[in-house]
Amino acid sequence: GANIRLENVCKDYGQTNVIKYVKFEIEDGDFLTILGPSGAGKTTLLKMIAGFEDTSSGSILINGEDIARKPIHKRNIGMLFQNYALFPHMTVNENISFPLGIRKVKKAEKKERVAEMLNKVKLGEYGKRYPRELSGGQQQRVALARALVFNPPVLLLDEPMAALDKQLRKHMQLEIKEIHNALGITTISVTHDQEEALTMATKVCIMKDGMVEQIASPVEIYERP
Ligand code: ADP
Ligand code: ADP
Repeated sequence: GANIRLENVCKDYGQTNVIKYVKFEIEDGDFLTILGPSGAGKTTLLKMIAGFEDTSSGSILINGEDIARKPIHKRNIGMLFQNYALFPHMTVNENISFPLGIRKVKKAEKKERVAEMLNKVKLGEYGKRYPRELSGGQQQRVALARALVFNPPVLLLDEPMAALDKQLRKHMQLEIKEIHNALGITTISVTHDQEEALTMATKVCIMKDGMVEQIASPVEIYERP
């Protein structure tokens, strides 16, 4: 895992300040969930950490290093976004190995890593299939395997379970929590689901109008909501 620190991060779109002086710090192995109403700035914040959006000001530090100007694939961040679909023209194996290709990992190691991840998400038999031949839940597990295949110290989740039905969502939550515990990967997850936020997190961040209203452990949030 990694230590992640945000220092007075702001984001403006023209005259509109959508993120205002956000600061927090999470430790190696933390699971932070970000809760808040629609439009609070949750996705924008995650996109800045991921590298899809530049910050307007402030710093984002991972293990003390400012990553603001680092290209996406050099940030070593695994991502699972609701609307970041699998590549439809690639097989499951090809999808999972894609991040390794970008990082110029050797062929034999790629094969080994992909097989390992397929087993981890319990899709050992599905490597040669195409995404359209899988169920929604299976596709999301492939996406999770792709997010984790390069052993990132940081994992970002943006409502990855929103499109799944309730039972699958519960299952996926357990799977993600299990992987989080096993790998100690520092995780930040955006969700609308308060129960999900409180059960999965080591820390909960409540956002409103582009600001952090509260950041505390789930127990503290239960006791003083
Ligand atoms: P949340 O994820 O909490 O629903 P978002 O981060 O998506 O919130 O959006 C925060 C605010 O920023 C919203 O008011 C949204 O309309 C605005 N916003 C997001 N992206 C853009 C953009 N590309 N241009 C202008 N405004 C944007
Ligand atoms: P919005 O919040 O407006 O729906 P999106 O979440 O679709 O915006 O993301 C904006 C852009 O970032 C899109 O072009 C999308 O393809 C791209 N994007 C999102 N997640 C990823 C990812 N994990 N890897 C590469 N591109 C991504």
